[in-house]
Amino acid sequence: FKQTLHMRRNFIGRSCKLHFEAAPLKIARASRQYLYDDTGQEYLDCINNTSHVGHCHPHVVGAGQEQMAKLCCSSGFLNEQASLYAKHLVSTLPESLCVCFFLSSGSEANDLALRLSAAFTKKKDVVCFDGAYHGNLGTLVEISPVRYKRLGSNHQRKEWVHIAPTPNTFRGKFDANSENPGLLYANELIKVMEKAHRNGREIGAFISEHVISASGMVVPPENYFPMVYRYVREQGGICIADEVQCGLGRCGEQYWGFQLHNVVPDIVTIGKPIGNGYPLAAVITTKEIADSLGDFSSTFGGNPVACAIGKAVLEVIDNEKLVSSAKNVGKCLKDGFKAIQHKHPMMGDVRGVGMLIGVELVMDKENKKPAKEAAEILTYKMKERKIILGVEGTDKNVIVLSPPLCFTTDNARYIVQHFSEVLANIET
Ligand code: PMP
Repeated sequence: FKQTLHMRRNFIGRSCKLHFEAAPLKIARASRQYLYDDTGQEYLDCINNTSHVGHCHPHVVGAGQEQMAKLCCSSGFLNEQASLYAKHLVSTLPESLCVCFFLSSGSEANDLALRLSAAFTKKKDVVCFDGAYHGNLGTLVEISPVRYKRLGSNHQRKEWVHIAPTPNTFRGKFDANSENPGLLYANELIKVMEKAHRNGREIGAFISEHVISASGMVVPPENYFPMVYRYVREQGGICIADEVQCGLGRCGEQYWGFQLHNVVPDIVTIGKPIGNGYPLAAVITTKEIADSLGDFSSTFGGNPVACAIGKAVLEVIDNEKLVSSAKNVGKCLKDGFKAIQHKHPMMGDVRGVGMLIGVELVMDKENKKPAKEAAEILTYKMKERKIILGVEGTDKNVIVLSPPLCFTTDNARYIVQHFSEVLANIET
């Protein structure tokens, strides 16, 4: 442990942060929803949404091993695994979204989505949320205000980026009791676009998550997206759904987060969970948009091993009925948190959908001042109880859970009980 930490501190960039920076964990292996440290201690993993169907799922590992022994790289050649996977993947999406591009990370997928949108609409400008995160590449940092803050106050926002308020009914301008918060927030975005038009800019794309994970699992009001999509399209723009966090059945009931809102995007980007931990990402779009791009290649994107793994992940989701499980177990988790909310003065909001849950901690429920320090202490105390939780949100005060989909209702009840005990200690 000490040697690994020493080498990390010396040879890996300090800006690459660890979970629990003050007392890091060295994970030696993992299985299903459990992580094991180098002493064999077991932890319940509530944050690793990348290991979507469970860490090291044997069907996925088998598919990867078999393909790795046969052929790892076939860039530029016909690739049977990529074709099979593309066919299976598009079958989970609405009919119009029928062409895939494969890449290796969510950032690359969002970067390509912006290129596709600019090629198709001939407009470079983009609207995004003030609480968004879409990736770590240069262009994406500009449309990821959550990280943008960390670039420092001298950073000049680029003229092609237009920022709309995150439709957050707990902490935003309009709360859930406002009459029609969806309409009010849609009007805010429309105002941002109108201002851009007045300044001679033309918007090519609106990019958003449909459950906004970077803001701490904010679920926009149900009529928000249909109104925004209509307006963006009337103005000649297209709509991009970043499903890197909320996609592939995590929201329960359906495969994709945008389906919660009855809209069909023009471009969908996916990453994290689709390779169950193996680097794999994709952009899926319409034939017309796909054909607007010139040549494109990615050496590792869509390599046979990644695609064999991606296909195995889809098979496990179907065989083990993980989408309906995400709905049922997620409901148990959220109901569990809701049931203890009245006992805890710091539990400001419980939100999310399926296995994408956020609990926002506040100093008190009247002033809603973000309880950032308490959120951090809580995650460390939960770690002592062998439960790994995350913290998100623009104020880093939202406890987030996005566990592997093999989570059980027993896991959910266990977490809620320990969460309540730990929070009670912090509150006193
Ligand atoms: N979009 C969203 C919503 C994300 O959460 C992330 C990663 N946290 C990304 C894009 C970028 O993905 P990656 O880290 O694989 O580049």
